[in-house]
Amino acid sequence: MKVSVVKETAPGERRVALVPEAISKLTAVGLDVLVESGAGDGAWLTDDSYADAGGKIVSRSEALAADVLLMVGKPDEATVAAMQTGQVAIGLFGLLADPGLAERLARAGVTAVSLDMIPRTLPRAQPMDALSSQANIAGYKAAIIAAAEFGRFFPLLITAAGTARPAKVLVLGTGVAGLQAIGTARRLGAVVSAYDVRPETKTEAESVGATFIELTSVGSASGEGGYARALTDDERQAQQDELAGHIARHDVVITTAQVPGRRPPLLVTEDALKAMAAGSVIVDMGASDLGGNVAGSRPGETVVTEHGVTIVGASGLPSSMPAAASAMYARNVSALLLSLVKDGELALDPEDELQAGVIVTRGGAVVHPALAPPGPAGAPAGQDTSVDGEPAAPAAATAAQDTADSASAGSEEGSASAVPGAAS
Ligand code: NAD
Repeated sequence: MKVSVVKETAPGERRVALVPEAISKLTAVGLDVLVESGAGDGAWLTDDSYADAGGKIVSRSEALAADVLLMVGKPDEATVAAMQTGQVAIGLFGLLADPGLAERLARAGVTAVSLDMIPRTLPRAQPMDALSSQANIAGYKAAIIAAAEFGRFFPLLITAAGTARPAKVLVLGTGVAGLQAIGTARRLGAVVSAYDVRPETKTEAESVGATFIELTSVGSASGEGGYARALTDDERQAQQDELAGHIARHDVVITTAQVPGRRPPLLVTEDALKAMAAGSVIVDMGASDLGGNVAGSRPGETVVTEHGVTIVGASGLPSSMPAAASAMYARNVSALLLSLVKDGELALDPEDELQAGVIVTRGGAVVHPALAPPGPAGAPAGQDTSVDGEPAAPAAATAAQDTADSASAGSEEGSASAVPGAAS
């Protein structure tokens, strides 16, 4: 069976689905690994390094003719057009937020396996959890960017020219990315506080060196599957108001908050921004075209407010560390692929919980319950269509974004798309 590494086509995407070190595990089970020429260029991985590791360097058309196509992000239109019935494509396709792509892949007869939909709590899915691996990288890079943008030191410095107090960093949202941001800021010497609307994250935040902030005006908003639920309007207002005081006391804020199927919540309002000291820095990992965790943030742009607060709209963070991100992603995608192969051939089992979670299209149809065509009640079969009475993302989705590098926000967190895991 031929497995190919397809060169990414998204603008600015530098990751590659397999690194040379990952090839031997696949060839060991009888797979032929084809690598599109130049696929690793963005991550400084040469064709020769793939060939030395046992890969066969091929043209794009040869790569796209393999039985299994390994990708990082979504295939573009030309790539989908070149795909053939019976092929399997594996990647972080963000299909929950892009049902149109799921339809196109189904029409092409492609079995789409979307890594971002892996059931993350299954122990055997851990090595395949690309959302976590990429969020880890994003959290690390967010802290590094914050330190680079900040016009002062992160650590306490005592020198002959004076003493610099350590930076006070606040991390909002302590999921995978937030915890890594805390750890990285701590290693840089900052004094770190953290807040999450799920109180159970307190011990995790403390274990990586943060002081956990507990708000008195908002209770727990723990939702299903270890994720947060959307806040009510009253809760949101109370949270924003109380957070503003904490935000004003910090030099640097890193925001990572996401709610499945929702715009990321707006945590730093215009008023909170005005209360921050000039020279403060915010890195918004939720920045997207629809907004972010921070009022006025724009993806891929750095803006400075009239009060002198720098807001970095962080996007594409994993891709900005392509060697590390590709190496981790390669382990995730290889682990998933190996779990699907028996005796050198694909052995797909729709009854398997893990496979049922990631297989979105099969046999010319969209088969994932979260995206399958409307049932008799007019709702996508198996899907909870509402959260607190508002439509959830798959029905309303308009854009897919990287969990780690994207998210969207705005003044209302309930009215648009952004699915954790709609990753790239
Ligand atoms: P995420 O990207 O969905 O969200 C990031 C954080 O934002 C979350 O901690 C969430 O609680 C927080 N948040 C949402 N709304 C907020 C608000 N209004 N104010 C403040 N914070 C808000 O999260 P993630 O990093 O993907 O992780 C989600 C969960 O999945 C975590 O509990 C994580 O430990 C868990 N997880 C479990 C496994 C496993 O079981 N093996 C693997 C990976 C992740």
